[in-house]
Amino acid sequence: QGFVTEKKGKITADYNLIQPCLGKGAFGEVYRGIQKVTNQVRAIKLIRKKLMTEEDCQMLTREVDILKQLDHLNIISIYEFYQDSEYFYIVTELCQGGELFDRIVQEKNFSEKKAADVMKQVLSAVTYCHEKNIVHRDLKPENILYETNNTDSLIKIADFGTSQKFNPDKKMDQRVGTPYYIAPEVLDRKYNEKCDIWSCGVILYIMLCGAPPFNGDDDYQIMESVRKGVFKFKEQEWKKISNEAKDLVMKMIEKDTKKRISAKDAMNHPWIQTYCQKKEEDL
Ligand code: ADP
Ligand code: MG
Repeated sequence: QGFVTEKKGKITADYNLIQPCLGKGAFGEVYRGIQKVTNQVRAIKLIRKKLMTEEDCQMLTREVDILKQLDHLNIISIYEFYQDSEYFYIVTELCQGGELFDRIVQEKNFSEKKAADVMKQVLSAVTYCHEKNIVHRDLKPENILYETNNTDSLIKIADFGTSQKFNPDKKMDQRVGTPYYIAPEVLDRKYNEKCDIWSCGVILYIMLCGAPPFNGDDDYQIMESVRKGVFKFKEQEWKKISNEAKDLVMKMIEKDTKKRISAKDAMNHPWIQTYCQKKEEDL
């Protein structure tokens, strides 16, 4: 890549923004936009400058810088970055198929085959990021998007707003993430890139049984449950699920970061290998 254009000026000179918005975040909204000269449809994340602190602006610059460095089939690619007096605009490839979150809600839980197909792609992207010393820090089903509406659509990781370039010899200490998915060591502000694997483990657990491994009535309680790091495979939901799947979940949702499996090893785990190869009807 490296040819991402940065422009000062109104994005509406180059794009028609289409209502309604695709998603809402902390500082702005994501819209579909049609590039006037090419007629291409893209996603445009608008971030309102008014409410942003200096630190928020730094995070945003980081998000753009990191996206520019990433070139992977399972990671949203960036095309352009605009700003005017009111907004920043991040133009990326559009995912038309919605969030992984919505598909899990619709289907309650995924077949092992389907969960393996998604997890393999997520792990492939995470392996790539970790090799480049980039950590995402907010992996969750809301930030994993389907390219199309097809059941076998590719998935793409989005939202690098909390991502960071890390030094492998130094622990990170910034507390970022989302209660259900955050790793316990992140709560204690001393962690490395393995925090992404914990979050992937939680996502995998949820895909397989339809419920989160760590829960509570409010964010505080959820995080207390995460801190303990004890979870169960409830008999009812898990009795039909293979031991290989449970083995991988346990290796990912492992409190000891030294014992926790790496992204690359998780991708090569027998469960991923076996289930990605199978056809849905064989199972
Ligand atoms: P935030 O940092 O505010 O969470 P995100 O980048 O996660 O911002 O975007 C918010 C939501 O907008 C996402 O959860 C998703 O539903 C939607 N979205 C973001 N990027 C795209 C995209 N490239 N294509 C389609 N929808 C997107
Ligand atoms: Mg998000």
